[in-house]
Amino acid sequence: MQWKELKARLLEAGAVSLSGEPADQFIARSAAGPGAGGLGAIFFAMGSHRVKLALNPLSSIEIAHRGNGTADLYFNGNLITGRLLEPGFHCPDQAFITVTGGCIFGCRYCSVPKISGRRKTIEEIMGMVESVRHRIHAISITSGVQGSIKEEEAYVLDVVKHLTFFGLPIGVSIYPTEKTPDRLKELGVAEVKFNIEVATPELFAKMCPGLDYNLLWQVLDRSVQLFGKNRVFSNVIIGLGETDAEMESCIRKLTTRGVIPVLRPLNPVADLVGTPRPTAERLDHLFTVHGQALEAAGLDARRARTMCTNCAGCDLVPGRDE
Ligand code: SF4
Repeated sequence: MQWKELKARLLEAGAVSLSGEPADQFIARSAAGPGAGGLGAIFFAMGSHRVKLALNPLSSIEIAHRGNGTADLYFNGNLITGRLLEPGFHCPDQAFITVTGGCIFGCRYCSVPKISGRRKTIEEIMGMVESVRHRIHAISITSGVQGSIKEEEAYVLDVVKHLTFFGLPIGVSIYPTEKTPDRLKELGVAEVKFNIEVATPELFAKMCPGLDYNLLWQVLDRSVQLFGKNRVFSNVIIGLGETDAEMESCIRKLTTRGVIPVLRPLNPVADLVGTPRPTAERLDHLFTVHGQALEAAGLDARRARTMCTNCAGCDLVPGRDE
């Protein structure tokens, strides 16, 4: 089985059970993103390829840790040997930190509002980065919204100002105001990700009440002007009720504007528990469309230095997962 097919099948399943030697150092516990608030997740790697999978003792797919990170994956009668990756914070090679772990909004697919996590202090964040400094190449920052979008932006800007001390590329993904791209650029941020999350405006209105779809597009356009090609990203979730044609047109709308889409398979949590995960066949088809759209727009996902496109754990990334 080729890597691309294996990863699509594993992402369709979403979770594995873990056995064998103790693997605590390899378990990523996240306050955001897929798997937030659960039992944690692990990164299984083969060569330069990797996939992030939530831990679920009931999963029929098993990873057995053999010691020192060496691991055997048992999947559909196949035994595939690879290794577990040690996360920096949240993902390997990066300190990907959630500044505020709760949110006043209630996007239906997101578990962050239900976790009601607290806000980290700047000292705490600096200490976290310091503790993994020797094994990361980037810092990535995301956040929920504690009080208002404006207030959160101001706090994150302060955090970023302090983080420039480390001299590493910084990526930032927060819910923006119209001035966010300019303010982040001014601080020397390398890359930004503003998530439109949902393929159509109608579905967005249903999924993300109170948030502004048009503003996100406007902010993405401004970001491309400021940060340039291959430096602006946007998550779009696959499996929220959109058709393939709607997803394809969303992908092309992003790429023709110079934005690299991050196509994220739905992890059905929060209000969407019970919604089916997208199938491996659908992920594979959209991966092909994604790759063609990037190429036609002269974009290259391999050039990403921070955040999800650089990590490539949770999604199929053209150029990385071939
Ligand atoms: S792809 Fe993104 S959300 Fe997934 S582990 Fe990597 S950085 Fe985190």
